[in-house]
Amino acid sequence: MAARPTIVWFRLDLRIADNPALSAAAERGGPVIPVYVLEDGAQDGPLGRAGRWWLHHSLAALERSLRDLGAPLVLLRGRARELIPRLADETGAAAVTWNRRYEPQAIERDRAIKAALRDAGLEAESFNAALLFEPWTVQTGAGEPYRVFTPFWKACLDRPAPAQPGGAPESLTGFSGAPQGDDLADWGLRPGKPDWAAGFGEVWTPGEDGARTRMRDFLERLAGYARGRDRPDAEATSRLSPHLHWGEIGPRQVWHSVEGHLHATGDGAPWSAATKFRAELGWREFCHHLLFHFPALPRDNFRDSFDDFAWRDDEDGFRAWSRGRTGYPIVDAGMRELWATGWMHNRVRMVAASFLVKDLLVDWRRGMRWFEDTLVDADLANNAASWQWVAGSGADAAPFFRIFNPVRQGEKFDPQGAYVKRWVPELAKLPAKWLHRPWEAPESALREAGIEPGETYPRPVLDHAAARKRALAAFEAIRKG
Ligand code: FAD
Repeated sequence: MAARPTIVWFRLDLRIADNPALSAAAERGGPVIPVYVLEDGAQDGPLGRAGRWWLHHSLAALERSLRDLGAPLVLLRGRARELIPRLADETGAAAVTWNRRYEPQAIERDRAIKAALRDAGLEAESFNAALLFEPWTVQTGAGEPYRVFTPFWKACLDRPAPAQPGGAPESLTGFSGAPQGDDLADWGLRPGKPDWAAGFGEVWTPGEDGARTRMRDFLERLAGYARGRDRPDAEATSRLSPHLHWGEIGPRQVWHSVEGHLHATGDGAPWSAATKFRAELGWREFCHHLLFHFPALPRDNFRDSFDDFAWRDDEDGFRAWSRGRTGYPIVDAGMRELWATGWMHNRVRMVAASFLVKDLLVDWRRGMRWFEDTLVDADLANNAASWQWVAGSGADAAPFFRIFNPVRQGEKFDPQGAYVKRWVPELAKLPAKWLHRPWEAPESALREAGIEPGETYPRPVLDHAAARKRALAAFEAIRKG
């Protein structure tokens, strides 16, 4: 009798190497059926339009790799709760393996599927591919989850070092009775006309190879990370976030690539840059820790005093913000970078998010949803925790009264204005002195730069100093209330 197959259910782990669910299936020795289920309810987190573009290309890359290994990927669309047990039944599978997710709906779904499979007499086993420290393995002395980053990360670093990443199977045995599945092109994940994602392909190469190349390139630049990471005008950060979100590279691989690079570099090894970079991976871990232990994080204020905050319904303000037309160049540059590439530099994410929440007084959840739709790295844990951090309503958040001044932030982190010039080309000819506050530029400078305020570039939608006062008054009201 032919060996019964093992199903490997891919989710946010779109890679072959260091994929414990895939390795476990291969090690069982029988045929393997790799499957991906497109759930319209997006249960592993948000699936916005930019994310759909990424998913298309990442699945195409995964399809190629799995075909080369000998077991083609089966694409199914619908509810995994029904499709996974049905596929197991129809193919006579003996086992199903997958890598764990930490989003509340995904946890509930996966538990139900595991129970259904086990009830039907199958083996169902899950693994860790996405985190260095799973949320339940790190706790305070009192056995509580952490709410503050620094002690959380210290506790992580006090634990045994993250395990070495696993390799990739050399080959797989396909299963002749596997269903045909859908054609990726029929899922319509890419935009139609107009193709607003046309620029994405110039910046990104979704898939495991693209992730590996990005990692290698970054190691060359690691030494400058701590110094340059806040500068949107320099390519100083890794830009690994979409690859990490989609699981094209895992954090163990990133961790040990850095480790290997440090050892190979010898005396001149950039230890302090590596420590800073690893702490950012730590923030990713912390966001997942928070989401796991506080599953309402994407919905409710972590600090409930914010429940009474007087957010404004400012449609015009939101529209100007989302389209990069606030009249504040650093904010507009960030929002346009986001639109054009599906990504925004971290410093500018903070400034732009602060502008929406504190200057415009628009509820952080609205901004979070815009990012969900437009970021290629949109991630339920990182996005929700970061928006709450900026809003001041979150765990270990920036205090509300610390309000980013978009002019000063621009002048400090984009001093020559190279970033603004790139994304707001209508200001490109303005001298650096005025680039972050064009409304203060003398008429002659504006004329020479070909700028007509309110025509070629918007006048500021608000006065930051007045908006700051208004925000502080709104905050004072909930503090007293
Ligand atoms: P690097 O500086 O090279 O950092 C390495 C990795 O660490 C990143 O790839 C990322 O996985 C992780 N990381 C870095 N900074 C953070 C952080 N502050 N919080 C959590 N993880 C971090 N990141 C997302 O991955 N998805 C999101 O949806 C997301 N939404 C955000 C929304 C707001 C309002 C803000 C302020 C930040 C958000 N971030 C999000 C965090 C951060 O901006 C990005 O992870 C970072 O800009 C990615 O660039 P990089 O890969 O070059 O980062």
